[in-house]
Amino acid sequence: MEQSTKITTRPAICCACSQQCGLLVHLNGEVITRITGDKSHPSSGGFICPKGAHAHELHYAADRVHVPLKRKGRRGGGEWEEISWEQALDEIADKITQLVESDGAETIAHSIGTLHGADWGIGERFMNLFGSPNTVGQDKICYGPTAIGETLTYGFGPSSFTYPVPGKTRCIVIWGMRPSASSPLLWRQMLRARAAGAKLIVIDPEFTKEARKADHWLQLNVGTDVALALGFMHTIINETLYDVAVARESVGFDALAERVQSYPLERVSEICGLPGSKIADLARLIATTGPTIFSAGNGLCQSGNMAVQNGRTIACLVALTGNLNREGGHTLGGPPRDMINNGTAMAVDALSPAQRAKRLGAADYPFIGAGYDAVDAAMSRRWYGQKHLLSWIATAHEPTMWQAIETGEPYPIKALILQYHNPVGASANVNRVADALKNERLELLVAHDLFINASSRLADYVLPAAHWLERPFFSYGYGYMAFVGDYLETQHAPLQPEFEHRSDYDLWRDLGQRLGQSDQWPETATQFWQSLIEPADLDFSELTKHTGPVFGTEVQHPERKVEASQVAYGTPSGQIEFSSSLLDDWGLDPLPYFAQPAIFEHAADFPLVLTTGGRMLHGFHQNAQQMPWFRQKYPDPEVRLHPETAATYGIDDGAWIQIETPVGSVRQLVRLTTALAPGTVQADRWWYPEHEHELEDPYRVAATNINCCTTDAPGDCDPVIGGWLLRGVPCRVTPIVSEGID
Ligand code: SF4
Repeated sequence: MEQSTKITTRPAICCACSQQCGLLVHLNGEVITRITGDKSHPSSGGFICPKGAHAHELHYAADRVHVPLKRKGRRGGGEWEEISWEQALDEIADKITQLVESDGAETIAHSIGTLHGADWGIGERFMNLFGSPNTVGQDKICYGPTAIGETLTYGFGPSSFTYPVPGKTRCIVIWGMRPSASSPLLWRQMLRARAAGAKLIVIDPEFTKEARKADHWLQLNVGTDVALALGFMHTIINETLYDVAVARESVGFDALAERVQSYPLERVSEICGLPGSKIADLARLIATTGPTIFSAGNGLCQSGNMAVQNGRTIACLVALTGNLNREGGHTLGGPPRDMINNGTAMAVDALSPAQRAKRLGAADYPFIGAGYDAVDAAMSRRWYGQKHLLSWIATAHEPTMWQAIETGEPYPIKALILQYHNPVGASANVNRVADALKNERLELLVAHDLFINASSRLADYVLPAAHWLERPFFSYGYGYMAFVGDYLETQHAPLQPEFEHRSDYDLWRDLGQRLGQSDQWPETATQFWQSLIEPADLDFSELTKHTGPVFGTEVQHPERKVEASQVAYGTPSGQIEFSSSLLDDWGLDPLPYFAQPAIFEHAADFPLVLTTGGRMLHGFHQNAQQMPWFRQKYPDPEVRLHPETAATYGIDDGAWIQIETPVGSVRQLVRLTTALAPGTVQADRWWYPEHEHELEDPYRVAATNINCCTTDAPGDCDPVIGGWLLRGVPCRVTPIVSEGID
């Protein structure tokens, strides 16, 4: 059939990261010729970054998987048979049925990777309806610890999503975050606020682009953020710079005041590697300048044992300095009252309490286990009875899943469905992950993805995923969750799915229909989303005619007001809790504290400190790393060292070196920089393919993947939520003689 050559433009909302920029997709017939920013979009105003501008190149990439593939021969052998979706889903459903009969529904696990379309996460609905508690998410290292830290302190309401208000916000603290790369729209707003007079403080071990713009940069030692926050509070409390009304009306202020006495500036100075006078000066600035926002990044969420403590101490600072519910400071969000929220949409209540108790990690991490109910009950009192607002963070624990596959403890996991997730690249201690995926005890491995990658090449079935340009869009908040409270945006798919590509929704609907869920899945994702907003008398298609999110209607806004029937904060006491009653109930320290992860017992042999995976504007996690435009800019995985460190070990700029931790070792290419302190080693995340000379085996992961060196050992994981340690691992470096990675 002859292709139409009609030139058209269609609106789209970008899902290449979580910023949700408005885009214009330019087409010749049904072929995208280019993508530009949509100037009429109220949030992004025409902004587009390289990921959005090149999105169609990823969609049209030559190595996309276009049809369902079934493994031939040995696992990982690379031989595939093309089959129909019907055959693939029938066979997968049959195998699942057989495994459930022998081992129970909990033997089926599903692991989700990064954001990749508005129906990201819908598999959790299938799993709850099916009866398995083992949906595994990346929430443990991506925003989850921040949300939990806030929730324990002042109840649900992710105040860390607050944007500064130019002219009102007087101080911005960027903490462990590179918004210029990870959140460009937030960064743009920060620059506007700064131009309107706000002070900018950057807390980061690296002299980042943000630090270059800052009034003050605090170059703390990697992984010592909690100690710094306690040092700030020491000055703020001892000099009575805190909000007296907040202290009076909260729970545990006196206990906190006593606790911070254990963190005098001399001690904090030694831990953080910062002058005590500078810590005190910045504490005074934060407490007295006026409305302040604290923007905490995922660097803090990937701090293993300190991840939730990072969220907790910053939440305490927000409250203590009177910046909660303050114009120009932080505002508590909340779910839209009349719409069906994300947790409810994911059918959380369909999973029986007995099955939920079996969730992997529930026995070790309270928020994954019984503690979730206490948090949920407390939040529900604040948000007019809405349930399951944080269910997306109470997912199963990935390291425990690898253990269950390999050892059968606490029970066997025999089937795993990976969705847009490459754990062999992205998880901690990836050699162990690869062993688990190769293990014969795992009887069924399915991957739904755009590409074959290091994990999906081990699968029994690879199912072709639709790119976000082939999916409709729906969001009621950041990351598509219903918790911001003033946000709703919809859009039709710019393209219909090509070849055999299917969206997440379509996959789970079709699998669900084969496994007894026929009445639970409307035919399309759009119909499903319509059912969520129908109670608020909203219409998906009508909303697509509106450019940008809908703000300010009575439907979205009443949650800002606290009614007589509600408590002020979604904590058990209904108050701000500097001493957390929930942590106390769980047998954990109710007050903020600093501790190093267990792996530091090896520090004598590994005298440097490794941090990994800083964000780049050109890439969103592993997405697009194989694309020519990305590889041209970043041809090799790089490790950055201070020249003094390099000189100590006889290392030259541009050399390949060995990076070693107690967990493993890899090689990367050295770049010398004074942006880092001596002693800090900052390594890129997984590179795919690993090196241009290695194309004959593009899926190998052991040569340069820094996650061979990161840790998910229990003593390094967060005690509340179980997040693993990607930042702040003791390491050593040695020069290697040969060029390249082998
Ligand atoms: S910042 Fe870039 S990748 Fe993220 S939504 Fe905007 S255009 Fe897309």
